[in-house]
Amino acid sequence: MSERKKRLPTVAIEQEIYALAKDHAEAKGIPLVKFVNDMLLLNIEKDRFLRAYAPKLSFNGIASDGSSLFIRDERLDRTAQVFLRDGHLYCDVDNRQDCEHIHFALALPEVARLNLKKPLKK
Ligand SMILES: [Zn+2]
Repeated sequence: MSERKKRLPTVAIEQEIYALAKDHAEAKGIPLVKFVNDMLLLNIEKDRFLRAYAPKLSFNGIASDGSSLFIRDERLDRTAQVFLRDGHLYCDVDNRQDCEHIHFALALPEVARLNLKKPLKK
């Protein structure tokens, strides 16, 4: 048996993501390896949780202009469009700002890709 520590698997990270992750890890005062491993595990666990919590709902993509998320609802056999209106998420199926599609959308990492750069209506 070798005395050497078993080498852990390595994964290539894109340069821009590496820089972002390094900045975040430093801001939190934790090693980059711990930060990246925690982020990966939390995202996998969150995905499992959402599938168990809302088995009839699933992420079905984001509009190419980043204006809305699509949430597939198997119970209704419809796809809800969730988008920003007046600074709040809005659902076109329920015509309101508070429904299971919006709760689901808020739990998705992809919600961060909604285009917030456009000026919000006042
Ligand atoms: Zn809805």
